[in-house]
Amino acid sequence: MQSIDKSPAGYLIKTPRRAITASTLVIALPPVALGQVQGGIAESIRAQAEFQALVGVRVTTITQWYREPWWRGIVTANGRHVWRAWTTGHCINSVEIPLEEYASTQNAIRVVYNDQTDCADLWARLAQGPLEALEREVAIGLNHLFADNGVTRPVHIGTPSRTVFREWPDAWYYLRSGNHFSNRDIFRWAVQPLPGEDVALVSDGYNPQRSGWADAAYKSSIHYLNQRFGMGLPGLERRA
Ligand SMILES: Cc1cc2nc3c(=O)[nH]c(=O)nc-3n(C[C@H](O)[C@H](O)[C@H](O)COP(=O)(O)OP(=O)(O)OC[C@H]3O[C@@H](n4cnc5c(N)ncnc54)[C@H](O)[C@@H]3O)c2cc1C
Repeated sequence: MQSIDKSPAGYLIKTPRRAITASTLVIALPPVALGQVQGGIAESIRAQAEFQALVGVRVTTITQWYREPWWRGIVTANGRHVWRAWTTGHCINSVEIPLEEYASTQNAIRVVYNDQTDCADLWARLAQGPLEALEREVAIGLNHLFADNGVTRPVHIGTPSRTVFREWPDAWYYLRSGNHFSNRDIFRWAVQPLPGEDVALVSDGYNPQRSGWADAAYKSSIHYLNQRFGMGLPGLERRA
């Protein structure tokens, strides 16, 4: 979607190949993506104070593949395996050891899961290459966390066979400091952000409770369907 405007036939949505009109419009784009869309309707939403209160959190992930799954040797003194580890002492920030079969059988591991801005800058710079420099920095972080931490059994970290860097400008959303909206205000506002218009926003970005994630995206949609169409869908409240 490139633009959203008002037209005599309803809301006019343009894509590179098509023009579509709709009388009811549900925009399932998180705020950063909506920020790229042209047209009067998109601009009016962006002009709202609620929209401007939303901050996308920049996140870096780096995934590596190894011939040997050295992380299976990370066990605590009482023999428990580890699937997550955090550090503030290095920009790897946090590590996720996959439990899911599709990933664990590939000997893949998320060696960086970072939401710190200064570290995001570091990884983005290293990702420009050569890749060996990025891999060296990852190895420093992994050794800092796992080689001899006094908590889990020391492991020898191997050499990766593949490294993939990825960055999201808005992995999840928070409310900007100093604004006067609550998470619930944003959740309610998104059902009809433009008074008098049949336009809604659904996404985790418009339901930044705890913060966001897929649960928030589902609930944002359920809330809209219940409010706009009286569908009475369950799922918004915790079951007793
Ligand atoms: C690294 C990472 C790990 C995560 N881990 C978890 C987890 O373990 N559990 C969990 O619950 N959640 C997790 N999340 C969060 C989860 O991915 C989001 O909460 C969820 O995807 C939000 O759904 P959404 O529909 O609001 O937005 P999205 O899933 O971002 O969907 C928006 C869609 O809009 C499309 N789009 C963008 N611009 C346009 C345009 N102009 N025109 C048309 N389409 C467009 C995008 O391509 C995208 O498909 C994670 C997120 C990240 C980044």
